[in-house]
Amino acid sequence: MTGFNTRLIHGQNINDNQTGAVNVPVYQSSTYAYPDINGKVRWDYSRSGNPTREYLEKQIATLEHGANGFAFASGMAAIHAALAIFKEGDHILIGDQIYGGTYRLINDYFQARGITFTSVNTQDLEAVKAAIQPNTKAIYFEPVTNPLLQVTSVRAIAAVAKAHDFLTIVDNTFLTPYLQQPLDLGADIVVHSATKYLGGHSDVIAGLVVTKTKALGKRIYFIQNALGGVLSPENANLVRRGIQTLSVRMDRQQENARQLIDYLASRDEVATIHYPGIAGSRDHEIAAEECDGFGGVFSFELQDDVDAPAFVNSLQLIRLAVSLGAVESLAELPYEMSHAELPPEERLAAGITPQLIRISVGIEDAADLISDLNQALATATRRQNVHILKRSIG
Ligand code: PLP
Repeated sequence: MTGFNTRLIHGQNINDNQTGAVNVPVYQSSTYAYPDINGKVRWDYSRSGNPTREYLEKQIATLEHGANGFAFASGMAAIHAALAIFKEGDHILIGDQIYGGTYRLINDYFQARGITFTSVNTQDLEAVKAAIQPNTKAIYFEPVTNPLLQVTSVRAIAAVAKAHDFLTIVDNTFLTPYLQQPLDLGADIVVHSATKYLGGHSDVIAGLVVTKTKALGKRIYFIQNALGGVLSPENANLVRRGIQTLSVRMDRQQENARQLIDYLASRDEVATIHYPGIAGSRDHEIAAEECDGFGGVFSFELQDDVDAPAFVNSLQLIRLAVSLGAVESLAELPYEMSHAELPPEERLAAGITPQLIRISVGIEDAADLISDLNQALATATRRQNVHILKRSIG
């Protein structure tokens, strides 16, 4: 097999290009003509299959070392498809720190349709084992959690799942196949919000599913075709193009993350930094063993005497926005933004404090990003001093 970077660029040949074009064309066609009524056609209708989408589907299957790939109109549609292969009466274990949208899908949609779920701390194998029921059919989790970047061993969880004969489903959005290939560690299905690192440019919403086996692929294909939440050819092309530069973007994002973290670690205004690349934690040990890098997202807590909203409001280069994984750096306040739907006590219990800032590191010059953090820290500290002064006077 060729190297990862070569596979990023060349993907899979779909043998459907008679022009010599080096990129797969965007087949903007809903239907395909039959040569005659008895003729066999490779494509007949684009919900069931589209050459541009299929290129992307083969590209991601190759990168994840899976049998089949499937592209959907969003990460949530991909996750929905992966969970829709289960039926009423089935039980699924879920990581207790999964993406809020996935949690909502499980709680407000699948539970109402008779599938039961138990939320577990996937870092605690004994807790996982204790939560298994006779009807457990799968475990679903994110190996690196958001926004605290806690790491779960895919190998350990998959071993438990295999021993009890249920499936392991991994959301690999944060690491991507460049940094981790969960199917090689024992997982059965990988899902992605391709909106993030795979697309990589904040210009497309997309989701992907990859199965380890063709048998599982058939089950996902049934859902994809029957429910129809497919990715459009134009958006499939954007993700295909994004994937080609995945490793160069990730390399730069990780290098920038390292520099930003070094800078923040030197600042008194910063209380804690959460990043699996920082040595000395179990998260780091697992990530060093199972991943080829630590990713481009980290979070940190400001000291209580620093005004966190003023900090994010003062950032100029780093944009204040949810989402992650793109070429531009983004900051967000999980307590107020991505995790605001959780009741305050649950946010605090999960370690999501009002002082926590999440950064998705882009590919800008690290020096410019650091200078932006620097001026925002200065403003946020000044602001807080004014509050304290006003409080003490008033
Ligand atoms: N999984 C993770 C880890 C995410 O962060 C997100 C979105 O933020 C999703 C899934 C959902 O993907 P999408 O927004 O593309 O539907």
